[in-house]
Amino acid sequence: MAELQLKSVEKTYGNGFKAVHGINLEVKEGEFMVLVGPSGCAKSTTLRMIAGLETISGGEIRIGENVVNDLVPGKRGIAMVFQNYALYPHMKVRRNLGFGLQLRGKPKAEIATATDEVSEILEIEKLLDRLPKQLSGGQAQRVAVGRALIKHPDVFLFDEPLSNLDAKLRAAMRVRITDLHKRLKAEGRPATVVYVTHDQVEAMTMGDRICVMKDGHIMQVADPVTLYERP
Ligand code: ADP
Ligand code: ADP
Repeated sequence: MAELQLKSVEKTYGNGFKAVHGINLEVKEGEFMVLVGPSGCAKSTTLRMIAGLETISGGEIRIGENVVNDLVPGKRGIAMVFQNYALYPHMKVRRNLGFGLQLRGKPKAEIATATDEVSEILEIEKLLDRLPKQLSGGQAQRVAVGRALIKHPDVFLFDEPLSNLDAKLRAAMRVRITDLHKRLKAEGRPATVVYVTHDQVEAMTMGDRICVMKDGHIMQVADPVTLYERP
């Protein structure tokens, strides 16, 4: 459970290109924030800086009470879902789900209980003994969400998670992810979400608030109704 804060965050890449220009953003505990904007506006760079997959060139990122600028991804209390799912290809679904907890040295019984819990939530119980290559796109995406959920992250990061799915599955997964977000809130363990997409429908239907980016700047942060009425 944690609020996420970006203060004057900048990114200049190794080639001298300034991709992010001192952005400020506050995502409240349990809030679902969608980052939108045209390709190249720095949505992905911003998400990767929050995750710790990309260094920041200036400013500060806070998760809860902690400044996480210098923390490795594993110590930030975040979990990320990628566009290409990024499942470990040689591990069955069960092991893909539990691997993060195994790395943290959790006992087997605890991993088994947690695996059962997320499998039930994401309806992937029947897939546990399959390899990733034996899954459909929609199934793989559910496993990817389960693998993030099992860590009980304070902050959930999604990078275009539905863009490889067909329209019907995309619609189903939109509902699944927003339902999951509501469920976690109802269970008293709200997840702070940053969700990157270029899909307007996803932004408008999923976001509590939407952050509109352009050329490495934040242009506007507003709830969907306000954005719809005054775009
Ligand atoms: P940094 O040293 O800032 O972490 P990277 O290691 O990510 O930079 O990238 C190394 C180089 O690869 C960059 O300096 C850039 O020239 C090039 N590069 C990688 N990805 C991109 C991209 N999406 N757009 C433009 N250049 C890129
Ligand atoms: P988006 O996710 O909104 O499409 P990105 O965050 O991927 O945008 O990229 C933002 C800008 O930074 C783009 O102009 C891109 O070419 C550039 N960029 C991304 N990665 C690198 C890199 N490693 N080196 C240099 N430039 C990069």
